[in-house]
Amino acid sequence: MDLARFPRRRYTEGWTPLEHLPLLTQHMGGPHIFIKRDDLLGLTAGGNKTRKLEFLVADALRQGADTLITVGAVQSNHCRLTLSAAVKEGMNCRLVLEQRVPDSYDYDASGNNFLFRLLGVEKTTVVDLGTDLNAAMQAEVDELAAEGRKGYVIPGGGSNPIGALGYVSCAQEILAQAFDKGIQFDHLVTASGSGGTHSGILVGMRAMGSSIPVTGISVRRPVPEQEGLIGGLAKDTRDFLGLPTEPPEGELRIFDDYVGPGYSIPTDEMAEAVRTFARIEGILLDPVYTGKAAAGLLDLIQKGHFKRGEKVLFLHTGGSPGLYAYQDVILD
Ligand SMILES: *Cc1c(COP(=O)(O)O)cnc(C)c1O
Repeated sequence: MDLARFPRRRYTEGWTPLEHLPLLTQHMGGPHIFIKRDDLLGLTAGGNKTRKLEFLVADALRQGADTLITVGAVQSNHCRLTLSAAVKEGMNCRLVLEQRVPDSYDYDASGNNFLFRLLGVEKTTVVDLGTDLNAAMQAEVDELAAEGRKGYVIPGGGSNPIGALGYVSCAQEILAQAFDKGIQFDHLVTASGSGGTHSGILVGMRAMGSSIPVTGISVRRPVPEQEGLIGGLAKDTRDFLGLPTEPPEGELRIFDDYVGPGYSIPTDEMAEAVRTFARIEGILLDPVYTGKAAAGLLDLIQKGHFKRGEKVLFLHTGGSPGLYAYQDVILD
């Protein structure tokens, strides 16, 4: 599949590492655990949004935009990376921050919030859950237009077909790396949020002829809702690429057992998984996405869903700056 026909900026040199985790494998006594280190992608502190932004920002530049506008939660990694891409391109960036948990915005908070200020965000608008986010972003476009400037709206999580190309391309990268190392994976596990990562990987794998099952650990929505989101975005991404639409029958593997009380609300299993990865492999996860996804990975290993002798690839989607806003819940 030829992705070179789509405009792309490059924010990472080469491939991210694909590593075996021997100590965690031994600790769990189950399948061989591998990790794809997308926490080491380029832009400020890495993470999965960097791959999506390579295509989204190229599209913004092609359209002559001078300002990126996007939306996320109060500790959004996506907002940090969009802002970082804007800095790197000499553009401005405006953020709409959604308080998914009431009163969760704190001007002085650490983690990503600190980085929004450090990286020089032009304007931050804080809104409550239930606000029309597209209207809030359009208001910024209109305000900029009145000043003779041009804004480009990136949807939450960068999850539209253009952004999902980042993970279609990551599927190609993983298959090339697995071939290079002589490994055939039995499963791939990823956090599943706004969906560009999960859908993109799935579309990419199938387009490349790989039938590797892709398991998404939902961090926010119940299974039926997340299935609708992933199935819909996968279809739109296939259409965008001009690929035949395959029936998603039995294709979507999603678990919602690790969300806990809600998006970004800590769970004991998340904190335990974050400590396990840190203390056994020296790898930092994050409290909102990869901590819950890893809690799912470890629990599904314990339950025998992923079996001894199998090879499981965990996609590390980044997010470690969020740890610094959750210090007290992570340490036992
Ligand atoms: C956004 C994000 C995800 C979820 O990716 P989606 O493409 O939105 O599903 C996972 N991990 C981290 C660290 C993120 O910031």
